[in-house]
Amino acid sequence: MPITHLKFPESGTKISSQNNQLVVPDNPILGYVEGDGIGPDIMRASLRVWDAAVKKAYNGKRKIHWAELFMGEKAAEKYEGNIFPDETRQALQELMVSIKGPLTTPIGGGFRSLNVTLRQMLDLYACVRPVRYYSGVPSPLRHPERVDVVIFRENTEDVYAGIEYESGSPEMRKVEKFLKEEMGATFFEDSGIGVKPISPFGSKRLVRKAIKYAIDNQRKSVTLVHKGNIMKYTEGAFRNWGYEVAREDFGDSTITEDELYSKYDGKQPEGKVVIKDRIADIMFQLMLLRPSEFDVIATTNLNGDYLSDAIAAEVGGIGIAPGANMSDHVAVFEATHGTAPKYANLDKVNPGSLLFSGVNMLEYIGWKEAADLITAAYPEVIRQKIVTYDFARQMENATEVSTSGFADALIRQIDGVGEG
Ligand code: NAP
Repeated sequence: MPITHLKFPESGTKISSQNNQLVVPDNPILGYVEGDGIGPDIMRASLRVWDAAVKKAYNGKRKIHWAELFMGEKAAEKYEGNIFPDETRQALQELMVSIKGPLTTPIGGGFRSLNVTLRQMLDLYACVRPVRYYSGVPSPLRHPERVDVVIFRENTEDVYAGIEYESGSPEMRKVEKFLKEEMGATFFEDSGIGVKPISPFGSKRLVRKAIKYAIDNQRKSVTLVHKGNIMKYTEGAFRNWGYEVAREDFGDSTITEDELYSKYDGKQPEGKVVIKDRIADIMFQLMLLRPSEFDVIATTNLNGDYLSDAIAAEVGGIGIAPGANMSDHVAVFEATHGTAPKYANLDKVNPGSLLFSGVNMLEYIGWKEAADLITAAYPEVIRQKIVTYDFARQMENATEVSTSGFADALIRQIDGVGEG
């Protein structure tokens, strides 16, 4: 008999999809995975804030019915050491929208990384990271309010595909022989060898998702970030396939940056998203110097990894950066930082990353009013200098509060919104 610990709340209804659109009932069942380390602290606090915002926005007409799903250490306790039970995977697929805290991969658990396994098993091919500034948050920039981008990072290929051969191993020798003798490649002896596959299928579905997001959310541009000047057939091809998908699938609603100047005199026509591209290294500089020129960003896996954290740092760091991993039909929202084990169960850390992932989740299911309440309340609480330790150490005269204390302050603010 398989072990089962999963119970969907009977009072809720599952989200479904029709013609590629989510159908969200007023009583949806959403999944949550508490996570390891600081996960339980930030999840407990965030659940209270999301529920308070939904209650305030819809006065009981809408309510989330939460289903706890198990992964990581909590799963291991319940499922005889299994850190990613089948029923959790099935539930994430069936419920379609879930949120998770950070996870440790226990040593000897049989997984290279639990997060990577999750992405691969559910084919969550797009890592989506919205990065924007909330007033009052400590930032190293002079004008952090100019940063407002949504990064779509390809999640399944590139050097992350795991095709690597260790220096000196028989496999590496075989690949070396083939490359040197048959392909005429030259490189130093005993090199470790990694392979970087980038496909039209993987690139196009990622860019398609980014462009669709830009159109649906009235964004101005999609920038394809690549290193195609050096890696022509991988990074350069990503760029070319990106333009191709824009032309083929969204010809009526997109124009290229070249067309913007050659046909439209630099004035963006109403209802058209501009597709442009930038080389990755320059993009880091531009995001510091001229961030307002960028909106939606679509990029390959490794570029996206670096770029997401660098841009997040411009507006307050990974402690508050939200994220999600998505396939065509399944979305798993998540805190982007790790489990910070030294702070586990101290009720100390910043819940911001998970909290804002939940705000994005509310937007994703179309509950914008509830999302907006949190987005409006947050800067007010920061303005009062009520913050967790990480912000307190960067601000003068701050009142340092616990994770749950921060949630309390936010809920008080949400409950006060609109009451004059
Ligand atoms: P980490 O857990 O992100 O923590 C690194 C540092 O970032 C912390 O010591 C803390 O800085 C700061 N930090 C992280 N979360 C914070 C929060 N909510 N509020 C305030 N500060 C926060 O990175 P790590 O120590 O490298 O990784 C620990 C474990 O997490 C590893 O097992 C790793 O595999 C796992 N991990 C999981 C995920 C995921 O599940 N998505 C992602 C990354 C890592 P200070 O010490 O300066 O206060």
